[in-house]
Amino acid sequence: MVPSRTSSSGGGGRHRPGARVAVLLPVPLAGPYDYRVADGNALADGDFVHVPLGRRPAIGVVWGAGGGEAAEDRLKDVAGTVDVPSLPEVSRRFVDWVAGYTLHAPGAVLRMVMSVPDALRPERPMTAYALTADAPEVRMTAARRRVLDVLADGPPRPAAELAREAAVGPSVVRGLTDAGVLHPVTLGPEVPVAPDWRRPGPALSPAQAGAAADLRRAAGGGFSVTVLDGVPGSGKTEVYFEAVAEALRHGRQVLVLVPEIALTAQWLDRFRRRFGAAPALWHSDLTAARRRRTWRAVAEGRAAVVVGARSALFLPFPDLGLVVVDEEHDASFKQEDGVVYNARDMAVVRARLGDIPAVLVSATPSLETVANADAGRYRRLHLPDRHARAPLPAVAAIDMRADGPPPGRWISPALHEALAATLDAGEQAMLFLNRRGYAPLTLCRACGHRLQCPQCTAWLVEHRVAGRLLCHHCGYAAPLPAACPACTAETPFAACGPGVERVAEEVAALWPGARQAVAASDTLNGPRAAEDLVRRIEDHDLDVIVGTQVVAKGHHFPMLTLVGVVDADLGLGGGDLRAAERTYQLLYQVAGRAGRAERPGRVLLQTYMPEDKVMQALVSGDRARFLAAEADDRRRAGMPPFGRLASLIVSSPDEGAADAVARDLGRAAPRANGVQVLGPAAAPLSRLRGRYRRRLLLKARRDVAVQPLLRAWIDAVAVPRRVRVQVDVDPYSFL
Ligand code: ADP
Ligand code: ZN
Repeated sequence: MVPSRTSSSGGGGRHRPGARVAVLLPVPLAGPYDYRVADGNALADGDFVHVPLGRRPAIGVVWGAGGGEAAEDRLKDVAGTVDVPSLPEVSRRFVDWVAGYTLHAPGAVLRMVMSVPDALRPERPMTAYALTADAPEVRMTAARRRVLDVLADGPPRPAAELAREAAVGPSVVRGLTDAGVLHPVTLGPEVPVAPDWRRPGPALSPAQAGAAADLRRAAGGGFSVTVLDGVPGSGKTEVYFEAVAEALRHGRQVLVLVPEIALTAQWLDRFRRRFGAAPALWHSDLTAARRRRTWRAVAEGRAAVVVGARSALFLPFPDLGLVVVDEEHDASFKQEDGVVYNARDMAVVRARLGDIPAVLVSATPSLETVANADAGRYRRLHLPDRHARAPLPAVAAIDMRADGPPPGRWISPALHEALAATLDAGEQAMLFLNRRGYAPLTLCRACGHRLQCPQCTAWLVEHRVAGRLLCHHCGYAAPLPAACPACTAETPFAACGPGVERVAEEVAALWPGARQAVAASDTLNGPRAAEDLVRRIEDHDLDVIVGTQVVAKGHHFPMLTLVGVVDADLGLGGGDLRAAERTYQLLYQVAGRAGRAERPGRVLLQTYMPEDKVMQALVSGDRARFLAAEADDRRRAGMPPFGRLASLIVSSPDEGAADAVARDLGRAAPRANGVQVLGPAAAPLSRLRGRYRRRLLLKARRDVAVQPLLRAWIDAVAVPRRVRVQVDVDPYSFL
């Protein structure tokens, strides 16, 4: 293995036999490695190639002419090319750009591009299962029915995928096949039905039509960033569908990024209604076979529209013509593991590199995006009204200091009264609490010992339905112990504070006849369960929904008229730079669930700080004032978006080793005009998954390029093997 010195492509990107080429491998090494082009095997930049990596075979991408200093005779030959389309130049530049900006190895970024190694192997014919016409009558179970439902609205699927989508075991598919209801078919490469841009959209209101015309113009042009801002229900989705139609008219590919939990059946139904075909999907819950086919379809230009979570940004689009980021403010666009990046920001970079338009969509744009629009870097389109003039819900705060519930209860008298009135009127209510489980803290009644995760500085959260304690940081799970681990007393433990399960318990005690459901990521397992819940709410099979942020987004529920926020202050604690902004965004989204159709909605916020600017902004509906105040605070403090931040997180299973590296980094901290380094300090989550964590924070003026500083800083310190230093440019998490 011979490091290459350059990743620039000379000689028009073609490499003749015998030449030296730089090959980037999907591993976190410093850069590309040099190989020799084998006889009779000319290569071009972007080609996927087989190469030896140490003793193992590997697949990499030709990154340019090789420029390393190693002697010719040390070079190994490229073993052959892989039969897939070359990685487009824009994708390669994107990999380099993301690596340079985030200070992660280009190979680690390439690994995200090559996220489906299987996709690079030759296509094998695949067996899928289809409904048999005139199938014999068989005994119908709920599980069998779900399988048939899945097939009713889609193409034949491989057995594993079918079972997964229908949330059944593989034996159900086998049983149906044996009974002749399903039969196997062989799938060739998939040719997805192309979304049809010629189909007419809905008649748009004048404001919508104006925004749509503007977006269509942008969608036909080169690089631009447009912020599409409008209250929930104002028709932002309908409007950006017009931009999608325009890009399709030009024969180009489209990427729509959405937060994973906003990727709902409702959204897909709307897309299908508008364009007559489903988009290609990309998210973490797909089978390997599905990902493989979608990756191929994208690379070969057969997938016209991809809707996906953040990682879809790294798919190898040969002709991407538009990227839309829906819910652009959402923190889940920030990836915290591996390559730490913000998909919203990188989507804008991808648009710039590809000279294509980007559209950022939100009812509550991030301060970053607002600042960019204010500075004229982004264009702004605004939809002021809800479609069909459905009024926005009335928001009121309940002062829990004066009017709170009795101890051990979470629903205040005022919220209780509103719930009763809603249920009496035959309408639906949602209680929102962004905390899974039954109680966030469990302690021993005898000695006060708190049950803690053995691997993290975090309390264990009781999940009573599942009958266990869970760590929300590392996933550690254990049954509730019979005796206190500290004092061995066998007194029952005390549950402190509420999670959604506990609020549901209170609702059940107050209204035993009310039909209710808990909606949290752990109670809804899989997209089918989420869809079922949405349908039950739509069909008014439920009276009360107690939920976390999984229900905060995107849905329209005609009968839902009351939203009660159980603990509006929950996100405001802690030292998070964006605590106020995020709490505002989240609660605004939740409030938007109330009263979408003809019935006006009501929102009640239970808070101990009704005078806080977040509560004030929600109650008054004065977003502009909130944003201005928040911007002022940040500007004065030199914080993003008016200054730059980068974190170094030092972690190790060996506390002393973590401390030593953190100390060395502290001593080596860059000293420059407009740059300040805070720390090292123990991270708030000072132990995570058994690793001790220390943080340093670099704060810089906006005009300072932080990457060269960071690189020199990290290079100055020797890091032993068992210590990791993670770089987080533009951090969102401060834990
Ligand atoms: P947003 O994305 O701003 O929340 P949506 O695009 O989801 O708004 O629109 C909210 C609801 O109003 C959806 O059910 C949508 O189909 C409907 N809607 C919006 N604009 C129109 C329109 N011009 N004609 C018909 N229905 C519309
Ligand atoms: Zn843990």
